[in-house]
Amino acid sequence: MVVANITVAAVTMGKAAFTENNEGQFLLSPVADLMMQQQQQQQKEKMKEKKKKKKKEEKSSCSEGQCKLVDYNSLPNFLKHNEFILDYYRSEWPMKDAIRSIFSIHNETINVWTHLIGFFIFLALTVGAAMIIPVGSSMASSGASDLANVSSTLTDISGSLRLHHHELVALSLSPTNLTGATADAVEQATRWPFYAYLCGAMFCLLMSSTCHLLYCHSEHTCYLMLRLDYAGIITLIVTSFYPLVYYSFLCQPYFQYLYLSFITVFGIAALLVSLVPVFETPEFRTVRAGLFACMALSGLVPILHKVMLFGDQPEAVLTAGYEAAMGTLYGLGVLVYATRIPERWMPGKFDLAGHSHQLFHVLVISGAYTHYLAGLVYLRWRDLEACH
Ligand SMILES: [Zn+2]
Repeated sequence: MVVANITVAAVTMGKAAFTENNEGQFLLSPVADLMMQQQQQQQKEKMKEKKKKKKKEEKSSCSEGQCKLVDYNSLPNFLKHNEFILDYYRSEWPMKDAIRSIFSIHNETINVWTHLIGFFIFLALTVGAAMIIPVGSSMASSGASDLANVSSTLTDISGSLRLHHHELVALSLSPTNLTGATADAVEQATRWPFYAYLCGAMFCLLMSSTCHLLYCHSEHTCYLMLRLDYAGIITLIVTSFYPLVYYSFLCQPYFQYLYLSFITVFGIAALLVSLVPVFETPEFRTVRAGLFACMALSGLVPILHKVMLFGDQPEAVLTAGYEAAMGTLYGLGVLVYATRIPERWMPGKFDLAGHSHQLFHVLVISGAYTHYLAGLVYLRWRDLEACH
C-alpha cells in the first residue's frame, strides 16, 4: 500500500516535472527519472521472482499443487544415493507434500512404513513391559494371566519367535530360574538399562522413518534428517550394550563401568564423526557401514567375557545365543546395505519393493527384537540372582 502511494505520487510528480531545456526540448526532471528507474527495478524484481518460482517448480517436480515422481537422472546431487533405483523419486517436494506422501506410493513408502511399524511394535513392547514385568518381590501369580495375554498379542507379529517369547514370559513369571533353583525372596534388578535399550530402539526407528519421509524436501532438510538417522543408529547400538553389560557384570563393577564407558564414548565419537558433511556421500557408504559394524562388533568382547565368566549358567548361554542371532541379523543388514543387493543385479526392478534398504530395515527390526528377548532373560536372571 505504501509502495503504491509512493508510486502514484512519483508519477504525478513526474508529469509535473517535465522541464524545458535551452533548445526547447522537454526533459524528465531528476526526480521523475529516479521514479522511472524505481518502477523498472520493481518490474525486474517481479520478473525475477516469477522465474525463480518457475525454476523451483521445475526442480521440485511440483506445479500448481501437484507433485509428480521423477527418475534418477532428474534428481539434484544431494538426492542421488542409489543409482540402481531408477524411478519413483520425490524431488524437492514442499514440506506439506512430503508429509502427505506417507500415504502415497513412491520408492521410500516401504522404508517409511517398515520402521514406523517397528516403532509401534517397540512402543507396545515397552508399555507391555512396564505394565506386566513383575516388580520385585510382589511377583504374584495373579499377574501371570495378564502377562501371558499381552505377550501373546505382542508376539503374534513375530511369527517364528512366538514360542521363545512365551517361554521367556513364562520364565519371568515363574519364581524359579533356568537352573531350576527357587528363589526365596525376589529382589528387583535395576530396570533402567532394559528401558534405555527399548527407548534407544524406538528413537532409532522413529528417526529413520521420519528421515525417509522428509529428506526429499531440500538439501538442508536432507542434511538434518540424515544426521538424525545416524544418531538413531548410534543410539540403538550404544543402548544395546547397556542391558548386556549391566546385567552380565552386575557383580563385577569394574568391568561394568569399563564396558559401559567404552561404548558410550565410542558412540559420542561416532556421532561427532557423522556430523561431518562428507560422511553422508555415496562414496562413504562403506565407511559408514564399517563404522557402525565396528561399534556393533565391539560388543563381542563383553559377550565372550560373559560366556567365560558364566558359561555354566543357562541364562548366560541363552542370552549369548540371542546375541549371536542379533549379530547375524545386523551383520546381514549391514552387508545388504553396503552391497545394495538385490537392486544392483537388476536395476529398476526393485524401485518400489524389495530393494536393499527395505531388507535392511526388516533385518534391523528382527535383530532389535531378538535383543529385547535377551533383555527379558537378563531381567529374570538378575531378579533371581543379585549380588549380595
Ligand atoms: Zn533407513
